[in-house]
Amino acid sequence: MELKVIENATCTFCGCVCDDIELHADDVRIHQAKKACVLGKSWFLNHTAEKKYPDALIDGQPASLDEAIEVAANHLYEADMPLVYGMSNTTCEAQKECVAMADLLGALLDSHTSL
Ligand code: SF4
Repeated sequence: MELKVIENATCTFCGCVCDDIELHADDVRIHQAKKACVLGKSWFLNHTAEKKYPDALIDGQPASLDEAIEVAANHLYEADMPLVYGMSNTTCEAQKECVAMADLLGALLDSHTSL
């Protein structure tokens, strides 16, 4: 099996955003993540393109993405003290949307780094 080599991949796991990672991958899985630290290697090697889960869950049951977004929006709208939290494995564009959503809700915004 011949693996594709991707030079200068960016790791978004911990926030350091190392951008010199060399990935060796097939269509489903990354087999090597050269120059990544132990956390980055674990992150790259344990995520696949396999579709193992439904797009969304509501109360543990499979749901469409639209249904899940509506339920999540209602939870956020009804919350007394909304918190927008996480974002460690998300793109800059997604983080920007999280900040805008927190502004709209008057929510607290925090990342996993506060732990
Ligand atoms: S390779 Fe390691 S240090 Fe670099 S961003 Fe990934 S987890 Fe952080």
